Amino acid sequence: MQRLIVIHYSELALKKGNRDYFENRLLRNIDEALSGCEARRVRRISGRFVLELTPSTDVDAVRARLGRLFGIAHFGEGRGVDWDIDTLSSTAWDLLRPLGFQSFAIETRRPDKRYPLTSVDVNRTVGAYVRERSDARVDLSNPEVTCRIELVEGQAIISAERMPGAGGLPSHTGGKVAVLLSGGIDSPVAAWKMMRRGCTAVFVHFHSFPHTNRESQDKARQVATLLASYQQRARIYMTPFADIQRRILVETPVETRVILYRRYMMRLAERIAVGERARALVTGDSLGQVASQTLENIDVISRAVRMPILRPLVGSDKEEIVSIARKIGSYDISILPDQDCCSLFVPRHPETRASTDRIEAIEAGLDVSGELEAALTASERLVQYAAYDTRAVRQL
Ligand code: ATP
Ligand code: MG
Repeated sequence: MQRLIVIHYSELALKKGNRDYFENRLLRNIDEALSGCEARRVRRISGRFVLELTPSTDVDAVRARLGRLFGIAHFGEGRGVDWDIDTLSSTAWDLLRPLGFQSFAIETRRPDKRYPLTSVDVNRTVGAYVRERSDARVDLSNPEVTCRIELVEGQAIISAERMPGAGGLPSHTGGKVAVLLSGGIDSPVAAWKMMRRGCTAVFVHFHSFPHTNRESQDKARQVATLLASYQQRARIYMTPFADIQRRILVETPVETRVILYRRYMMRLAERIAVGERARALVTGDSLGQVASQTLENIDVISRAVRMPILRPLVGSDKEEIVSIARKIGSYDISILPDQDCCSLFVPRHPETRASTDRIEAIEAGLDVSGELEAALTASERLVQYAAYDTRAVRQL
């Protein structure tokens, strides 16, 4: 008898031509995420992945890490056993018994046609065995628990547990994006959503140190470490913004400040993204949430760069964003107090309907190319590893 975890993947099955590519990447991600957990290598069996556990495997760690891997629909612990019908029955009962249930179903698949009984026969025989011992009834449409039996490659894989996976597409299959990561609630959620669609995220955080303290940088770093546990590791650029901000503050009209800040952030982020071979910028903007996020301002801000800006939260309400932030674990970091660079000197009546012509005219009289270059040169690049990785931070 082998102790196993059976891993079911989701949308991958749909990607006909690229299926091997997606599966191989997911396999590699699983191997990397589980390094140090003392599990055997993952095998691919009949459209599933099967992970063999050993007596020294840290099963809790395996579960926690699998639960964060994109591309997994669900997974559950099970057994690999000889496929004679008595063993199937007793193993199914062993797995079901601790679950305490009123109704159940047995679901058999028989990809290996050498098996002598049909899947319907197996369902009936094993179902009768369980019913005799449990007093529970069979319910095929809405069972409380389901025991899955797969007859594959000369053996049976049996599992009665179904833990939800993170869904989406495997990390590092969707290209790279540069995420503008503030210390707030929204941008980590925006990053997570893009990562869930397979993108590799590189983070860019703008800070006004020494005019602000280091809290926003610490928070951005903590968030990057958290998000790294969804893609194994993550790079973050800490980019100084104080000098550009000071020029804007002194030389431009007060109500346009935030728009100008954002346009220069976009330009810096675009330069970093090009150096990283990223194909798009990502922000946590949500339409109408604050003055800088009206449709007019989004338009003016977007025109500062040529690279596409993706805004995965544009149509989300704050409550929806907060509930994802709680689920992924970023909320508690985001609500820590900090001094965001843009909360300094924010006008009481910011522009909500900027016009590109006016903003471009203001920028024409403001030559900050020297400051932009200096900010890029002074950017610190750090690599954050997943929180469970012992190499917590490494400076390049
Ligand atoms: P968040 O909660 O993500 O900070 P927010 O609702 O506070 O968002 P804004 O402060 O207007 O909104 O920021 C909009 C977006 O601009 C952020 O989601 C983020 O992508 C980017 N941004 C803002 N400030 C910074 C910063 N200091 N460093 C990097 N990106 C930033
Ligand atoms: Mg913010």
